[in-house]
This record gives sequence, C-alpha cells and structure tokens, in this order.
Amino acid sequence: MREWMFLECGECGNRNYRTPKDPKDTNKLDLKKYCKFCRGHRSHKEKRK
Ligand SMILES: [Zn+2]
Repeated sequence: MREWMFLECGECGNRNYRTPKDPKDTNKLDLKKYCKFCRGHRSHKEKRK
C-alpha cells in the first residue's frame, strides 16, 4: 500500500506537491521546490494527510 504525503510551502502554507511515501521511512523531508504562489523557490516541508 502506498501512502501519500504533501509538501507544504513554508511561507504560504500551500500544498504544492504530493509524493508517495514509504510508511517505514520516518525521515522528514524538507525540500527546496518552486512555489507558484510565492513565485519562487521555497522550503517545502512534509505534511501527512
Ligand atoms: Zn508558497
């Protein structure tokens, strides 16, 4: 079974990305990704549903 998690922009809080998550992987992701609301690259943090 695949779990999904969201990557939430650290600035505006929008969930811009959704990615499959291995339930056994407990590492918290923190990625620099493009946010179209902030119009730039922002730190995106992992959020579970
Ligand atoms: Zn943003």
